Amino acid sequence: MNYKRSSALFAQAEMVIPGGVNSPVRAFKAVGGTPIFVKEAKGGYLYDEDGNRLIDYINSWGPMILGHAYKPVVDAVVDKAKKGTSFGMPTEIETKIAELAVSMVPNIDKIRFVNSGTEACMSAVRLARGFTGKDKIIKFAGCYHGHSDSFLIQAGSGAITFGTPNSPGVTQGTAKDTLLARYNDIENVSQLIEANKDEIACIIIEPVAGNMGCIPPKNEFLKGLRDLCNANNILLVFDEVMTGFRLARGGAQELFNINADIVCFGKVIGGGLPVGAFAARNEIMNYLAPLGPVYQAGTLSGNPLAMAAGLAMLNELNNDVEIFNRLEEKTAYLHEGIAKVLSDNNIVYTINRVGSMISVHFDEGEVVDFETAAKGNNETFKKFFHGLLNEGVYIAPSAFETWFITDALTYKDLDYTIEAIDKVAKTL
Ligand code: PMP
Repeated sequence: MNYKRSSALFAQAEMVIPGGVNSPVRAFKAVGGTPIFVKEAKGGYLYDEDGNRLIDYINSWGPMILGHAYKPVVDAVVDKAKKGTSFGMPTEIETKIAELAVSMVPNIDKIRFVNSGTEACMSAVRLARGFTGKDKIIKFAGCYHGHSDSFLIQAGSGAITFGTPNSPGVTQGTAKDTLLARYNDIENVSQLIEANKDEIACIIIEPVAGNMGCIPPKNEFLKGLRDLCNANNILLVFDEVMTGFRLARGGAQELFNINADIVCFGKVIGGGLPVGAFAARNEIMNYLAPLGPVYQAGTLSGNPLAMAAGLAMLNELNNDVEIFNRLEEKTAYLHEGIAKVLSDNNIVYTINRVGSMISVHFDEGEVVDFETAAKGNNETFKKFFHGLLNEGVYIAPSAFETWFITDALTYKDLDYTIEAIDKVAKTL
């Protein structure tokens, strides 16, 4: 395939945008080469600036669960745009989407809309700290909760010590309040809690990790966290920015039958517009301004375009009783197909999948946490990525990312993809 125009556009972008992109993973640093510039997208396909058609397995990193330019969403946005794009005043549609979200998700009474997943997680942590009167948080190595300071922390020298900043600009002062635990290791979490008795406000987790490839929680791990939180007056925060409205109507809480205290959303809830949200029971949400003392705000929060897109999306997901089964079946079909062709070609791999989140790790053995995810063979992944791109199949440009399956994909698209993987596997 020819990517001449994308390359030229990237060179131009690099002159005026740092690294040519507005979010780092788009820059192809992990896989080499230059990023593809999208011209438009429809259903399960991207059309790039060079006229190539790509089958899309990223789907804007999750939101396009029903496909790109989905008509009810586009119509809702266009209709709203004609009536004004932001007022900074309340509108009825905010209540409508809030009512719908509260009816779909277990264990929440109120929801507050923000503009990104980052804002949702940052605000959830502030609320947890305000509500419990404690400062420290536990997060898991390899989980991503957006780019706010408290989350840009890496493990310190020992398992029980504080984290250290993993970006310049994050202060030691912030880092000392974030403790790093190993995903799927309940003992490790228990030790951290013991070593920081009565200091931990919340544990924040991706209930299915999607930011170190897809990593499912082991049996009883989430339940173990729930029990530890109950016993130690700690709030459990589920970051459902990826899993919310994707794994089930009620997200991971519903899928695993575990209640979180605060739930964060993003991606699907905005139908592709910049939206995030966080939600909890009344006793916690009433702690937020203007009702309570914890401050949180946003000029564009709940703006009519974002709410229209989100409401149209959630209505579709709420009304289509088969959608989550269909997504699961399509992804399971893809899973089986990929496993077969990789095995037939003697490639060492592990595939992790939960519902419509799936990832391929080029290593054998279980992938259960950041350490095991990092063992994947990145050289093989790079060849795999570029090979697939050449066949018109677009997966995330990093081995640490999950593929998000859209309902717009047909079984023909899935078969094409499996054949493409067979071809590429022969070159690995
Ligand atoms: N949480 C999770 C689990 C995410 O995957 C992401 C983004 N990929 C975020 C939070 C941050 O969301 P945003 O990029 O919208 O700020």
